[in-house]
Amino acid sequence: MNKEDLLGVLQAIYEQSQASRTGLAEKTGFAPSYISALVADLRRRGLVEEGGRSPSRAGRRRVLLHVAPDLAHLVGIRIGRANMRIVVTDFLGKVLSLKKIPTNITMGEQHVFNLIEQEIGAAIKSDSLIKGIGIAMSGVIDRNSGTLLFWPKVPGWIDVPLKRRIQNKFGLPVVLEDTVRTMALAEEKFGDAKGRNNFVYVVVSMGIGAAIYINNRLYLGADDLAGELGHTTIDERGELCSCGNRGCLEVYASGWAIINRIKMGLQQGVHSSLSQLTENNPDRISIEAIVNAAKVGDQFAHTVLWEAGVHLGTGIATIVNLLNPEAIVLGGEVPRVAKNFLLKPLFHSFRGRTFHRSVSNLKVLVSRLGGEAGATGAAIVMAEKLLPEFL
Ligand SMILES: [Zn+2]
Repeated sequence: MNKEDLLGVLQAIYEQSQASRTGLAEKTGFAPSYISALVADLRRRGLVEEGGRSPSRAGRRRVLLHVAPDLAHLVGIRIGRANMRIVVTDFLGKVLSLKKIPTNITMGEQHVFNLIEQEIGAAIKSDSLIKGIGIAMSGVIDRNSGTLLFWPKVPGWIDVPLKRRIQNKFGLPVVLEDTVRTMALAEEKFGDAKGRNNFVYVVVSMGIGAAIYINNRLYLGADDLAGELGHTTIDERGELCSCGNRGCLEVYASGWAIINRIKMGLQQGVHSSLSQLTENNPDRISIEAIVNAAKVGDQFAHTVLWEAGVHLGTGIATIVNLLNPEAIVLGGEVPRVAKNFLLKPLFHSFRGRTFHRSVSNLKVLVSRLGGEAGATGAAIVMAEKLLPEFL
């Protein structure tokens, strides 16, 4: 069998999670008989298995194929400014184990690095099937070299050759990917974006980012920088952003911005139950604490969340007007925790700034995936890279 064709079919099956022979023929353009022969070869090699059947439509139900889940296991790790999540997954991205630990970023680069290595090491020790490591970072990365170029709002961490360091340490292939994109990939595989061709995944956590899917493909941009929604301008003369520009969306609607506004308000003596709730310790002000305050009627917490929602709605209106997607999926801690405190003003704001026609069919959804989605997506990126190795 032609190796390239085998790989093409294997990749198509992996991409679709479950694929029928007829669907593969349509997707690849190969004759059905050739597809059958290729699939038979892949099954003989133990790479592909038959699973369930497609939902009954008119005619025969089709047998569905999937890539063998135990082809390899993977470590996925998402390194965030506050926490890191470590998962071990099977080849299809099913989470076998899951861990969340504080990143302790203030203790310095070496400390965090030791922590990363310790966690990856422990995961590898526990599972002999692990064949690769996927790392998701929220900083600015060079995907080709696997380098973290810099990490906004985190001192140090400039030009860190993450991929090389981890690869040398463990002797396994490593891939470094942007967290927003790994989260979006998980959403596309397992979440509300599944089966959608044109959607934008928007992450609102400490920063704001987006992954744009056009015709079922992630749009990377000419310099691999597409999706920097957080640094689109919503006020030309606005406050200074960490990127050097003024009035970026991130300055008004990110988790960091929300927390910062609360901190400043409390410092200036604004009356709020948050002073008591956090025992006057600014470090205890979290999105969760702010939402809890809003829930019990705290006007200040409510207003700050409302304003962030309005700004976010403006940012999302820009996406909708520009791309006319079928869905916007909101991921990250802020929408997950704040829910309607953020969504109500968000809808209000973006409906007023978009054409009725482009919004009437638009779905705006809050991701239902857990906080481990970024790590799981990183594992899937690694799995995709490993596929050619099996042929
Ligand atoms: Zn900016």
